[in-house]
Amino acid sequence: MAKTETTLFGWQGITLRVPPDWNLGRVDGDYKSGYARLDDDQIVRAEVEWREGAKRQLSVEQLVDRYLGGLEKKAKKAGMSFAATRRARFLKDKRWLEGSEYELFIWEADYRTYNLARACPQCGRIVLLRVLTRLQEKVEDLVDQIFGSLEDHPRQGQVSWSLYGLHFELPEAFKLSGQELKSGHLQLSFTRDRQTCRVHRFSLAHVLLKGVSLADWYQGFFRKQLRDFKVEVAAEDLRGHSGLRVRGQPRSRWLQLIRPLPFLNPRPRQFQDTRVWRCEAADKICIIDHLYRKREEGEDLPQRLSDGYFCHQKPQTDPGGDAQLPARPQ
Ligand SMILES: [Zn+2]
Ligand SMILES: [Zn+2]
Repeated sequence: MAKTETTLFGWQGITLRVPPDWNLGRVDGDYKSGYARLDDDQIVRAEVEWREGAKRQLSVEQLVDRYLGGLEKKAKKAGMSFAATRRARFLKDKRWLEGSEYELFIWEADYRTYNLARACPQCGRIVLLRVLTRLQEKVEDLVDQIFGSLEDHPRQGQVSWSLYGLHFELPEAFKLSGQELKSGHLQLSFTRDRQTCRVHRFSLAHVLLKGVSLADWYQGFFRKQLRDFKVEVAAEDLRGHSGLRVRGQPRSRWLQLIRPLPFLNPRPRQFQDTRVWRCEAADKICIIDHLYRKREEGEDLPQRLSDGYFCHQKPQTDPGGDAQLPARPQ
């Protein structure tokens, strides 16, 4: 079959290979239950919903009944035609579904959607994956390819995060605690007990670094964060990129005492280990930050995280919407 070029999308343990111009348009929820939507530059292309299945009362078939019943009602109200095919046969290769409770179905209104509802036999997660196509589009092979690439749980304890051409793997103990998906600046924050890991990616590195060194730019932009540390910046290449390693030690208690600290929310004493590098190929500045309280928790997480193809993935387009560069420091 004709293979379409694809790129990896990964979010909260769900991974999927999709055409490179299908980009994250919306995300919601967390690891337990959530939703992600991928759009091309014109329409919604794929949606995935997930939920922990441990306390599930309905079978997959009943979930599909309920879901389609709701859609039908909505379509009726809107005066749209709606047709569903249950237990549809649109996948050529279904071997990977063997041993799991699932249903494939198609519904059509203005668009045709290919759907898979599945309970994972390994982790119990319930996933609904929906791929949208225009009615006249010929996409069977692509649909086969996308569905066949679906994975719904971490592999060997690592969660793949992959969006807008940014890719990394993080131990599953780190839970996503914040995200900012702006075109100039992507930022994902994760926490694990009292550790924080932040991944930043800045676009248009050549503009940000015009007339300023990477070290100076970094220290300027993150001035506020760095205030709490005794900082050491060393040039250190990272996987073929010129970069920096920034290590921060907590300031002495005495110095912390005389500094104007927030009265109600004193900042914790912590360590920082950060890798900063410039990817010329992708014109990005990439940063991985690890903040931790106990010296022994610093285990060079940024170095391990940068393994693989953090910035060398075939670049997807950047997030849509506001195309502003982050001009002001945090
Ligand atoms: Zn699973
Ligand atoms: Zn690179």
